[in-house]
Amino acid sequence: MNVGVLGAGTMGRGIAQVCATAGHRVTVRDLDPELVDRGIESIASTLEEGVDRGKVDPGDREAALERISGTTELAEAVVGADLVVEAVPEEMELKRETVTAVEDAANPGTVIASNTSSLPLTEIASTLERPERAIGLHFFNPVHLMDLVEVVAAEQTAAETVEFAEEFVEGIEKEPVVIRDTPGFATSRLGVAIGVEAIRMVERGVASPAAIDRAMELGYNHPMGPLELGDVVGLDVRLDILEGLREELGERFRPPQLLRRKVRAGKLGRKSGEGFYVWEDGERVAMSGDWDER
Ligand code: NAD
Repeated sequence: MNVGVLGAGTMGRGIAQVCATAGHRVTVRDLDPELVDRGIESIASTLEEGVDRGKVDPGDREAALERISGTTELAEAVVGADLVVEAVPEEMELKRETVTAVEDAANPGTVIASNTSSLPLTEIASTLERPERAIGLHFFNPVHLMDLVEVVAAEQTAAETVEFAEEFVEGIEKEPVVIRDTPGFATSRLGVAIGVEAIRMVERGVASPAAIDRAMELGYNHPMGPLELGDVVGLDVRLDILEGLREELGERFRPPQLLRRKVRAGKLGRKSGEGFYVWEDGERVAMSGDWDER
């Protein structure tokens, strides 16, 4: 299959890598040659790390890289593509302009996918003349390690497009989960619901952040507790997502005061050195505040 990937950033390069590894011919497009090169170099080095760890065969690495080409021309990535996946920044107008330009250049049968993590797909698709060919393919970071792809069906998406997307995802060795286009899809909505309740529990003194996180790690086999995960994602990012979900889904997603205070104080989690925990060199070293370190 020929796949066009728009954006060679964090997600675009990952998507290009897994598609090429699965045997598809991939053309990655970004805005200037340096960004394209940086994306392709990063794919090469991720594959090289795989070879070093014994996870990727050196021949497969070479073959995958041969199947990837880069361009700054939209038409090169889109003409003749069976599927185009856009991974441009998360802005509604940019997404709408991007998919419209894809539709203008592509064959009528091309499936147009968006990797949006939070925008309503139905609104992105509504700018198209053939919105039934639009779908969400929500990959997770790092793409080559994460098995899930949420296949998001917009209001207008045709059943054949969903079927095509499911088969495509299985073909790149990932697991599709089909979701209707609703705020937060499945993963953000549930992940954030647990995260927000965990913050309320800290706020009300139910237990310390470390105790709550440990309970979820041991009790539910979560690889990381909800408060530490919030620190890793960024508390400002969490707050934005909550505001969006509250607007669409109601007061159960209202951001707790404690979260607002942390964000106002610049305690954004790992990236700022403090959130629910204190971080040094990317490592969690203590709890923030006066909790007993237990
Ligand atoms: P990023 O900023 O790392 O990369 C975006 C790239 O798109 C940049 O290189 C930019 O130059 C390029 N770009 C901008 N306009 C373009 C255009 N018109 N055509 C081609 N390229 C263009 O962003 P990202 O983190 O890769 O996110 C991309 C999308 O994936 C967003 O919708 C985001 O919400 C979604 N997403 C991100 C993550 C994540 O963990 N980063 C996870 C899932 C989904």
